[in-house]
Amino acid sequence: MNIIKLYFLWGVGMVINVADLKLHPRTSQEFRLQENFSDELLAHLNGHFLEPVKVTIKFENTGRILVGQGMVHTVINLICSRCLKDIAHQVNTPINVVAASPDEDHTEAEEYLLELRDNGDVDLSSSVEEAILFSLPLNPLCKDDCLGLCSGCGVDLNTRKCRCEQQEIDPRWQKLNELK
Ligand SMILES: [Zn+2]
Ligand SMILES: [Zn+2]
Repeated sequence: MNIIKLYFLWGVGMVINVADLKLHPRTSQEFRLQENFSDELLAHLNGHFLEPVKVTIKFENTGRILVGQGMVHTVINLICSRCLKDIAHQVNTPINVVAASPDEDHTEAEEYLLELRDNGDVDLSSSVEEAILFSLPLNPLCKDDCLGLCSGCGVDLNTRKCRCEQQEIDPRWQKLNELK
């Protein structure tokens, strides 16, 4: 039978302690963490965090390893790739990790592996960062049918009509072009 204990760990970073869970095979523990992340993580996207990062994760002692499954939530300001408007992008993305001591055999779970330190601490930061970055769109859009900016005059085509096209077919310009 599973014993589920709930831990609220707000403002102490992304480090949890599973020493107790490690002692009790076939049990699980749920952790809730909250942390302000540095905008540096999003610098290459010109993004920044609008909310702290919240993580809810349940760790299960399978008898051999500790398997963690949960969700990462935050809100990130991104720039629309077409019209350059700010977007409040909701992140709700799964996180899957395995915590094991460096000396244990864990080859099958390598890509999710986090180090379980001797004192029972596991730092989730890198996995949380990865989960966030992986969830972000390559080309963020403010809306699916965003019309973007006119490449000619730069107006936002969502809100204004541009006159580039009309000018192109303006007969006076046409004459001028013929004189060249
Ligand atoms: Zn847009
Ligand atoms: Zn235009």
